[in-house]
Amino acid sequence: PATLHVVATPIGHLGDLSPRALEVLGSVAAICAEDTRHTRQLLAHFGIERPLVALHEHNEDAQAGQLVERLRAGEALALVSDAGTPLVSDPGYRLVRAARAAGIRVSPVPGACAAIAALSVAGLASDRFAFEGFLPAKAGARRKRLARLASETRTLVFYESSHRIEASLADLAEAFGPARPAVLARELTKLFETVLDGSLERLLATVSTDPNQRKGEFVVIVEGAGDDADARVAEGRRLYSRLVAHLP
Ligand code: SAM
Repeated sequence: PATLHVVATPIGHLGDLSPRALEVLGSVAAICAEDTRHTRQLLAHFGIERPLVALHEHNEDAQAGQLVERLRAGEALALVSDAGTPLVSDPGYRLVRAARAAGIRVSPVPGACAAIAALSVAGLASDRFAFEGFLPAKAGARRKRLARLASETRTLVFYESSHRIEASLADLAEAFGPARPAVLARELTKLFETVLDGSLERLLATVSTDPNQRKGEFVVIVEGAGDDADARVAEGRRLYSRLVAHLP
C-alpha cells in the first residue's frame, strides 16, 4: 500500500542494516537515494535489485512532486541516504513533508545514526542534549554560532569532517574554554573506530599532533555549560530561608 518508508542504513558496518530494512528495501517499487551509485553498491552486497531515484539537496523540491504522485497512485517507496538515518544532516525532509501533506503514510525503519551512536558511548550527560549537526564552514560564521552556544547547558552534539576537525576543535576550545570536557568519536563501527575523551584543549592537541586522528568521520560531543542560573536560584533560596527565620 502507498507508504513512504524512511529507512536507516549503516554508518560503516554493513551488519547494522536490519533484517526489516532488507525486507522493506527488497519490496518497494523504487528507492529514493542521495547517491544512487553508493546505494546500488550497498544493495548489491545484499543481493537487492530495485529501481533507484536520485534525491539530493539540489533536486529534492523538483522530485518531491513526482514522487508524491507515485505514492498517491498506490506505490510503496523507500527513502535512504548514504549513511545512517535520512533527514539527520541528510536530504529528505522536503519529500517527507510533501508526502505527509498529501496524507500519505510515512513510516520509519529505524537504525544507525552517528550522533546517537556517539552519545551512547560518550559517557556525558545524555538526558538532555542538543544536536547541532555541522558547524558553518566559514570561520567567521562558525565562531558566531559557537559564541551563541557557549552558555548552553545541554550536552552538544556536532558532526565534523576530516577537513575541518582541527579548526573546529580550536574554535570550540576558544569559545567554550580549553577545559570544557568533550568526546571525539571517530569512524564509529569501522576498522579504525576511536573514542577519545578529555578537555577540548587535550583533544585538540591529540588531533594536531597525530595525523591519523584527523582521518575519517567525526562526532564531537561537548559537555554543557555549568548551570550558573540554577546555582544563583539555589543561593537565593538559601538566603531567603535564613531571612524568613529572622522575621517576626
Ligand atoms: N544521516 C547520518 C546519520 O544518521 O548519522 C549523518 C549524515 S552526515 C552527511 C555525515 C556525518 O555524520 C559525518 O561527517 C560525520 O560527522 C558523521 N558520521 C557518519 N558516519 C560516522 C561514523 N561512522 N563515525 C563517526 N561519525 C560519523
